[in-house]
Amino acid sequence: QMLSAKQYVDDVYEKVVKRDPHKKEFHQAVREIFNSLIPLFAKEPCYMEHSILERIVEPDRIISFRVPWVDDNGRTQVNRGYRVQFNNTIGPYKGGIRFHPTVNSSIVKFLGFEQIFKNALTGQPIGGGKGGSDFDPKGKSNGEIMRFTQSFMSELARHIGPDIDVPAGDIGVGAREIGYMFGQYKKLKGSYEAGVLTGKGLEYGGSLGRKEATGYGVVYFVQEMIKDQGFDFSGSTVIVSGSGNVSIYAIEKAQQLGANVVACSDSNGYIYDKNGIKFETVKRLKEVEGKRIKEYVLEHPEAEYVEGSSGIWSIPCDIALPCATQNEIDETSAKILVANGVKAIGEGANMPSTLEAIDVFLEGNVLFAPGKAANAGGVAVSALEMAQNSMRLSWTFEEVDKKLHEIMHNIYMRSMNAAEDYGYPGNLVIGSNIAGFKKVADAMIAQGVI
Ligand code: GLU
Repeated sequence: QMLSAKQYVDDVYEKVVKRDPHKKEFHQAVREIFNSLIPLFAKEPCYMEHSILERIVEPDRIISFRVPWVDDNGRTQVNRGYRVQFNNTIGPYKGGIRFHPTVNSSIVKFLGFEQIFKNALTGQPIGGGKGGSDFDPKGKSNGEIMRFTQSFMSELARHIGPDIDVPAGDIGVGAREIGYMFGQYKKLKGSYEAGVLTGKGLEYGGSLGRKEATGYGVVYFVQEMIKDQGFDFSGSTVIVSGSGNVSIYAIEKAQQLGANVVACSDSNGYIYDKNGIKFETVKRLKEVEGKRIKEYVLEHPEAEYVEGSSGIWSIPCDIALPCATQNEIDETSAKILVANGVKAIGEGANMPSTLEAIDVFLEGNVLFAPGKAANAGGVAVSALEMAQNSMRLSWTFEEVDKKLHEIMHNIYMRSMNAAEDYGYPGNLVIGSNIAGFKKVADAMIAQGVI
């Protein structure tokens, strides 16, 4: 059975590559998930009989569109916008929007594909989608950001809705951009549909705890994982890559639990503060002032700034939380982390470790929390925001945080149980992929060939 399952997976993978020959990030995400599913198909061939892989790997639709906008010099600029509506079997399409120059159809497809399984793992009724643009927000004025974002929504609006597709933020899209998108959507539709976007401001339907959710969630997840192995954040040395929304709140929660967080980074370089990063400084520099992380050392001369962001992985630590972007840890960085004695990895970003890096961690017996499971707290609280919008009420921060904590615990349990059931105890990559897949696949079978 193992052989025919492997054959099936390889055949479908080959078709995916043939159909989309240049989408390397998408291939990478597909390869990882497909490999994890071999033990499931060997035991339960019904998924092969229903051609679930062929069906799930092809998005319902991909929308791509022109986004024209006028810059501060009066010149018209054009970017490309995307929305991939991947799978809505268990709920409306749900997933973030990324504004970054690296965005292309391979990136949005890989993110959308991952989102299907991540969202299923949360236990909430949300399907998988993702969007974005190759627009670079860096160095843009507030007016430029607003005009671009409004133009982006002018086209996107016809494709989304509270029961159709519910976007949120991702890299380059925070509360400000969501606010401009919501305003534009409302103006175009002429009706107040609070649940059409999540990550909204608190004044107009946003949820308390959404901003913190991804970062806190990663730490809650890793806490479960390391507790099982008899250690804790308290007294551990931690490095967190990135300094965006995910990193900031991962740093805060890890520190609250007694960790010594010694480094964080941005795409230019990293800071190393051996006595512990001053959270308030990082938060203000990045969240309020929009500065580069190197400014940190002006206020804290005892810290070091090093140019080049991948150098962060050579700092010895017990726990590493990659919270920046895809493929930020390659095989070489993974080997350095293992040689320096890292004990646990918690992926706050989407696919921050290459396939080779994951192998290095698993072979080195490092506890490994894959992004799909570990960073699901963000989208999970987005689903709580949708629930509050539907009920026209709002929960307190404590209520949301308690629910987030339970959700992360349940994701951990679901992933561990699936890993155990299919013969790979403790392997959270296999466990989370199987648990997420099974839920969607069973629902697809129940709903027939559509
Ligand atoms: N962009 C986040 C993610 O990668 C959040 C998506 C959402 O809240 O819909 O899961």
